[in-house]
Amino acid sequence: GLSGKTALITGSTSGIGLAIAKAYAAQGANIIVNGFGDAAAIEAERAALVALGAPQTTVSTHDLTDATAIEAMMGEALAQFGSIDILVNNAGMQHVAPIDEFPVDKWDRIIALNLTAAFHTIRLAVPGMKAKGWGRIINTASAHSLVASPNKAAYVAAKHGIAGLTKTVALEVARDGITVNAISPGYVWTPLVENQIPDTMKARGLTRQQVMNDVLLAAQPTKQFVTVEQVASMALYLASDSGSGMTGTNVSMDGGWTAQ
Ligand code: NAD
Repeated sequence: GLSGKTALITGSTSGIGLAIAKAYAAQGANIIVNGFGDAAAIEAERAALVALGAPQTTVSTHDLTDATAIEAMMGEALAQFGSIDILVNNAGMQHVAPIDEFPVDKWDRIIALNLTAAFHTIRLAVPGMKAKGWGRIINTASAHSLVASPNKAAYVAAKHGIAGLTKTVALEVARDGITVNAISPGYVWTPLVENQIPDTMKARGLTRQQVMNDVLLAAQPTKQFVTVEQVASMALYLASDSGSGMTGTNVSMDGGWTAQ
């Protein structure tokens, strides 16, 4: 179990991050939720984490594209819980456009959220982990940390960057009881993905099945979406004592995408 541990999961009001928060709560960790959304919906999710077994929970709505906001989030978390034992850098966003039309502000925001935010949370969490001689850092990367797709310059650059950050920090803290790993999902079934289906069906004159197999899962040989629960199971393994032998690794969970 994770009782006595405190986990901060960025981008945990939705999708993969929320599933990781639930998995950790069920093992008895204190949970710091972070992200945006409807306040009542977030409060319901927070209460659900308590029902699952999290002794203490708190919600951060800090915008992680802003270094000052990250410093505030980390300062408040350390003041409330004393330490952040498990740090999951998961918040992320996407924008799709060709390089010569890529909006400069989108590039800056995606690099800030998908890459630079992890630099800040890690540099601020590591001293406490070193003091305890135990820590877990898990970065949600992507198949796009290993391979590219057209029109996703900022996302692919940021995800390749977080793969490098993961390896570098893993080497630096290898003797301190701290592991640093990335999980690289392919297409994961989230409301975000599901909501794209009707529009794509209409725009391209395709059936639901055609959109799923030939558009969304074109690169995923299993023709199955990865589930948020599957990603959360890996995040739980990496956070556990059984995971202590793994560090500096980028674990693919992509239905065979990057085997091609
Ligand atoms: P999601 O959109 O469901 O969740 C994103 C979370 O990040 C939300 O909680 C949102 O509120 C939060 N967030 C967004 N902007 C933020 C900001 N500026 N500051 C703080 N929080 C912010 O997405 P998801 O599909 O669960 O993705 C989570 C991670 O997994 C991302 O890093 C994404 O790149 C990665 N990923 C997703 C897939 C997929 O197919 N869904 C595949 C590979 C990797």
